[in-house]
Amino acid sequence: MKTINDFNFENKKALIRVDFNVPLDADFNVTDTTRIEAAKASIIKVLEDGGSAILMSHLGRPKGEKNKDLSLGHICKTVSEIIGVQVKFSETCVGDAAEKVAADLKPGEVLLLENLRFHNEETKGDKNFAEQLSKLGDVYINDAFGTAHRAHASTTVVAQFFEGNKCFGYLLAKEIEAIEKVMQTGEKPVLAILGGAKVSSKITIIENILDKVDHLIIGGGMTYTFIKAQGGQVGDSICEDDKMPLAMEILKQAEAKGVQIHIPVDVLAADDFSNNANTQVVDVDKIPDGWQGLDAGPKTLENFKEVILKSKTILWNGPVGVFEMDSFDKGTIAIGNFIDESTKNGAFSLVGGGDSVAAVKQFGFENKVSYVSTGGGAMLESLEGKTLPGIAAIIG
Ligand code: AMP
Repeated sequence: MKTINDFNFENKKALIRVDFNVPLDADFNVTDTTRIEAAKASIIKVLEDGGSAILMSHLGRPKGEKNKDLSLGHICKTVSEIIGVQVKFSETCVGDAAEKVAADLKPGEVLLLENLRFHNEETKGDKNFAEQLSKLGDVYINDAFGTAHRAHASTTVVAQFFEGNKCFGYLLAKEIEAIEKVMQTGEKPVLAILGGAKVSSKITIIENILDKVDHLIIGGGMTYTFIKAQGGQVGDSICEDDKMPLAMEILKQAEAKGVQIHIPVDVLAADDFSNNANTQVVDVDKIPDGWQGLDAGPKTLENFKEVILKSKTILWNGPVGVFEMDSFDKGTIAIGNFIDESTKNGAFSLVGGGDSVAAVKQFGFENKVSYVSTGGGAMLESLEGKTLPGIAAIIG
């Protein structure tokens, strides 16, 4: 399979699907430029080869209608500053006008197309719309991991019009490599730390991951379903009674597969789901009625530390406590610190999926782990073992 480095973009127009779905403030300033910076390397490669870049993305959820507030024109200035080139803007992403500006692009120039999702055809994966997009470029680069799990026109369908002339950008390639490191090629022992609120939202990941890891830490709100299933008292902690048989099945499967499961032994319990609640540390299976476990306890963190420090490959998905409240963020911060230490000792650590990235950013761990995934849903689906359509369209 060809990578972006196998292409020379001299005098070529690269149609690049980027993820510029960035947050804007009330004055339409970009408040977090991470995604634009993440796309920079691929764009620069095209320009340095002597090609031109046509950038396409969605912004927000305009649901197939023009919406001034969601125009990508608002971010043109920021993209220009980050790329270091004055970026041109096309007020439409398909049709004669877009084709004309694209055709007129000179080597070294960059064009940003208007929000793809102003057209319903984008999310429907409409073939005709994808074909119109394909007319704009000679080579297709997909560098948008955040939408790689969607079979949309610009992320998947368009690739069929670029036979032999399509590849992943650097960002998407890095994401794929990071997932492979954890799921296939990682140095042992491989550890997955799964936290978050509910077993039900993580079940497919747990089932898939049991074949890949040596150790599995289960933390956060999921803990209590496992503890109650084994006969423990969880008080008022979040618990999915209907998932208790599943929890027992997971424990059985783990044993059969030789995966060591690590579950909290003590918790910081609170008498209310509130930052100002009264708290006490109690055994995880003896939480009194009226109390709920909202963070990992000290013995638990000692146990988790030992596993994290001896692991060589670490995946972290989901906080081990209600990290949004500072009374219950200590466990999640401790996990981040242990992963930091393990990474410094040579482990490969990947954080991704759902809310995990928010927690990691909030506590400043993003530069301490080996890789922070840029795609919440796409990473979750990868961890569930699904082949993402955006990736399959390039490989196939
Ligand atoms: P997820 O999106 O599944 O990774 O879940 C993240 C959410 O889980 C965060 O909003 C946390 O506040 C929540 N969470 C973590 N631990 C607990 C807990 N013990 N009780 C309730 N919610 C929790």
